[in-house]
Amino acid sequence: MSNLRIETKCVQGGYTPGNGEPRQVPIIQSTTFKYATSEDMGKLFDLEASGYFYSRLQNPTCDTVAAKICQLEGGSAAMLLSSGQAASFFSVFNIAGNGDHIVASSALYGGTYNLFAVTMKRMGISFTFVDPDCTVEELNAAFKPNTKAVFGETIANPALTVLDIEKFANAAHAHGVPLIVDNTFATPINCRPFEHGADIVTHSTTKYMDGHGVAVGGCIVDSGKFDWKAHADKFPGLCTPDDSYHGITYVDKFGLEGAYITKATAQLMRDFGCTQSPQSAFYLNLGLESLHVRMPRHCENAQKVAEFLEKHDKIGWVNYAGLPSNKYHALAKKYMPNGTCGVVSFGVKGGRAAAEKFMKALKTIAIETHVADARSCCLHPANATHRQMNEQELIAAGVPSDLIRLSCGLENAQDLIDDITQALANI
Ligand SMILES: *Cc1c(COP(=O)(O)O)cnc(C)c1O
Repeated sequence: MSNLRIETKCVQGGYTPGNGEPRQVPIIQSTTFKYATSEDMGKLFDLEASGYFYSRLQNPTCDTVAAKICQLEGGSAAMLLSSGQAASFFSVFNIAGNGDHIVASSALYGGTYNLFAVTMKRMGISFTFVDPDCTVEELNAAFKPNTKAVFGETIANPALTVLDIEKFANAAHAHGVPLIVDNTFATPINCRPFEHGADIVTHSTTKYMDGHGVAVGGCIVDSGKFDWKAHADKFPGLCTPDDSYHGITYVDKFGLEGAYITKATAQLMRDFGCTQSPQSAFYLNLGLESLHVRMPRHCENAQKVAEFLEKHDKIGWVNYAGLPSNKYHALAKKYMPNGTCGVVSFGVKGGRAAAEKFMKALKTIAIETHVADARSCCLHPANATHRQMNEQELIAAGVPSDLIRLSCGLENAQDLIDDITQALANI
């Protein structure tokens, strides 16, 4: 499978049925699995043998779909989770705890910002948020002796900043810690962060991977390349025996390729239970089969809409990395030569009030707390996802209060432009 092109991996990755077996991925809707002897099952609990015993830890349908996403990203191991939020939480908490510190880009999804700045802070993990466009010196200055990871989004939701992955990876590695990249908006079709030095990738599969607004889900993929052992003092959880799991030392037993995901499954999934249901994994797999066909169309529609908006006299500004005028155009060309994503943000002249009036007048494009769906939708983050932030925090997160986020779906682009035209005529 590894020699095949990404389109083929989308369709066939993760699952190779044997003779007479189902062609489509079977939904193993079972919480538990039967064994002939207690010894057989004991080996699974001791991680001596691989197999299934309880679907909170692992389920064959979920593992099959995780294996496909792992192939798409070019990783060594992957796991599905109940949501993108769970993926962001596990990705950091797997290697950081009370008293540790994380460097994160300030341009983040609102839910991730809240998770880090409020909830994980309460767990004793501190965060330094850096401007993604900061200089190398500013980035280096954010590290502390107790820093355990760096976190950023390939294309930030909703700020649409493009992360200079190499800059962030180099700084992380110079300080002996991994770079974790949330690759939700770009998807592995448009960007594979491991090829640019990232070590761990997370996804909200709820977005383009599912693509049809069907199932909430998340995924974590490990590149298997970060050398935990070379920085064993920073990562005792991976490099010293786990007393809560039969004294296993994850890097020794599962190698660099398997240690991180096995630990996240054996410890965090065991204790927090943020599992994806097999039914949801099945829906996700249907979305993945057409991901490579849908992404170019999302990008094409967004490009046409962004070009239209940029010329309209009622529009104050447009942010889309596909526009040559965009600040991130060069970075986008470097990391995503085939296109970025279907999400465009813009400000209507007249600020908050005009934005609300415009959104109410839309007919084809719906107001939703969602993006990356086959159906176009839009949102005013200052009034929704980011409403817990004050004006200053909104600016720091790249989400000014007049920003409208428009997720271009798979409809005919001219119908989207017609809808925007009539709605703008109302203000
Ligand atoms: C939506 C989103 C998340 C959170 O994912 P859920 O599946 O909603 O929990 C995380 N990161 C990004 C970039 C997102 O767009």
